Amino acid sequence: MFNAILVEREPQPYRAGLKKLDEAQLPAGDVTVRVEYSTLNYKDALAITGKGPVVRQFPMVPGIDFAGTVEQSGNSSYKSGDKVLLNGWGVGEAHWGGLSQLARVKAEWLIPLPAALTARQAMAVGTAGYTAMLCVMALERYGIAPGDGEILVTGAAGGVGSIAVALLSKLGFRVAAMTGRPAQADFLRHLGAAEIIDRAPYAAAGKPLAKERWAGAIDVVGSHTLANVCASLRYGGVVAACGLAGGLDFPGTVAPFILRGITLAGIDSVMRPRPDRVEAWRRLGRDLEINKLELLTEEISLGETLDRASPILAGQVRGRIVVDVNR
Ligand code: NDP
Repeated sequence: MFNAILVEREPQPYRAGLKKLDEAQLPAGDVTVRVEYSTLNYKDALAITGKGPVVRQFPMVPGIDFAGTVEQSGNSSYKSGDKVLLNGWGVGEAHWGGLSQLARVKAEWLIPLPAALTARQAMAVGTAGYTAMLCVMALERYGIAPGDGEILVTGAAGGVGSIAVALLSKLGFRVAAMTGRPAQADFLRHLGAAEIIDRAPYAAAGKPLAKERWAGAIDVVGSHTLANVCASLRYGGVVAACGLAGGLDFPGTVAPFILRGITLAGIDSVMRPRPDRVEAWRRLGRDLEINKLELLTEEISLGETLDRASPILAGQVRGRIVVDVNR
């Protein structure tokens, strides 16, 4: 038997609870992993509360990422005792996920834990931090370098945002952190932000073109915020867009694209090809300062995830929540 969070909706209502499950109930897969740590991401909060259509099969163990040790493997790529991590591939959405003491998955979804990170550190990074790294890599791929000017990070006090601030500042960029929580200004400065920007003016409809300000941006908010970020990018600027914390819409104009040659780089972490994943995790092991990771991480138990889901959706959680699934 093992402990896991289980999301059910038959019979109604939609509900999530801490359950004891039998190993025989685990889904098909060629590798069984003894999970050590998982995390609570925005998407996990949607799955636990049912406030977004994340879960595609019921009952479901949520948890879009985990790190742990291989217990049993029917695939030659992994053997018992190997340290591994997983994020994405629909795990925690269509296949039982990481908010559990045991997981059974396809070997091709796993990647070896980078030598520079422990299982706990990897999950403190989690899908949010890995996505922040993919955003940084997108800015680099489009040629944005520290000498080009300031980089704006929206939703900066959240999971993706806080790790993006830490990564960019370590890489030598001057970072402007946009937040709706002025009380988190010191936290953001400790992570490396040179400037704090109030999110309120960006949240309302703006002009098609605003004053050219940012060389690049990482946006987790979407909606008017993303449109205003596009409108205020400098000529040739790039924004890596990965989130919808402020809305799914994109009420912008083509003006910044056709008059300033800006680039909107879309970031998906879930189905990202394996070579990019391995590279992103390698870079996280190299470019993220562990003392900053500790500063932005809070640890909770498996059962506590149930109470922490709603505060994430309300934008009240700072940084990252790592889950010790064995307590
Ligand atoms: P968090 O909840 O940790 O952070 C989101 C932050 O966005 C909040 O802390 C807040 O920052 C800001 N925010 C929240 N609501 C609003 C609002 N209404 N208007 C403006 N800003 C708001 O979530 P994550 O960082 O984990 O994820 C951020 C987004 O990225 C989510 O939409 C998530 O689904 C998405 N995501 C996408 C991935 C992909 O593969 N594309 C992978 C991972 C995440 P502050 O308080 O500083 O203003």
